[in-house]
Amino acid sequence: MGIMTAGSALGSPDPKPPLETLTEGMAGLGDELEDISEGLVSIFQEKMVNDIYLLRLDGTLEQIDKVPEGKVHLKTYGIDGGFVPPLKTYLTRNQVGYSLRHNDDVILLDAGAKTILKDKEILENADAMLLSHIHLDHIIHIWQIAENMPAGTPIYSPSRISGLNNLKIVGPRSHQKIKSFHIEKSLTMHSIVNYAYKIHVGGKTICYTGDANYTKGLGNFCKDSDLILTECTHNDKNFDLIDSHMSPDEVIKLAYRAQPRLMLMSHFKYVTPEKAEELVKEEFQNVMSAKPGMTIVIE
Ligand SMILES: [Zn+2]
Ligand SMILES: [Zn+2]
Repeated sequence: MGIMTAGSALGSPDPKPPLETLTEGMAGLGDELEDISEGLVSIFQEKMVNDIYLLRLDGTLEQIDKVPEGKVHLKTYGIDGGFVPPLKTYLTRNQVGYSLRHNDDVILLDAGAKTILKDKEILENADAMLLSHIHLDHIIHIWQIAENMPAGTPIYSPSRISGLNNLKIVGPRSHQKIKSFHIEKSLTMHSIVNYAYKIHVGGKTICYTGDANYTKGLGNFCKDSDLILTECTHNDKNFDLIDSHMSPDEVIKLAYRAQPRLMLMSHFKYVTPEKAEELVKEEFQNVMSAKPGMTIVIE
């Protein structure tokens, strides 16, 4: 049984399960526990940056000083992905977590980034949290984040998580409207149920893969996006057949099929952000590795 599928605990009044509780039934985590040490590069201690980039219509990026009024923008808080033993590193690494904002409308994507807890302004303005899936690198801070969002803020998830009063399980086919965001979902190839999100807002389209292997279906789903926020876990083609994550090779395939204005990579584990960017750039120019604290404004 997966540790996060303990249905009896859904909506329980116990708001913050200790890490020991979270890590019971580790076998349910599947591949994230098996691929633990060989070739590992990503125990990052990333510095937060405050860089802001304007994504121009021609796909080029220009560094700017502040976010212009009325523009859709994506902020990346953490870029670590996967599991790195021991289990307590889930609490110390800065795993994936993002915000997408248009004027006063804010949605959060995944809850693995400890650094988002310092951004009180974004948490107080959150209209919803969307979870791609319930592997711990994507949800480890969800209980604390829930406490810091306005009371009643919905948390949408494909699967159950204990101790969250406002958790709403949503199916893959339901389209959602949250403030000015229109949200589509697609199942990806991963070791547990994972949603890729396609989010339309302010005349722009942003895709977030969550955790996924490359498939043509994912490429088709992500077509017509201004920006694709993709995972890039591996640095080895050999992983392709046995694992449900992407390497730079697969990010290239996704880029070729979907042709976004920008591929933004995150969820690094066996490849450094620098190496991933170098490898993908050989085939697809408009690519960038995310940094914690970075903002992309979409023109
Ligand atoms: Zn992950
Ligand atoms: Zn995962």
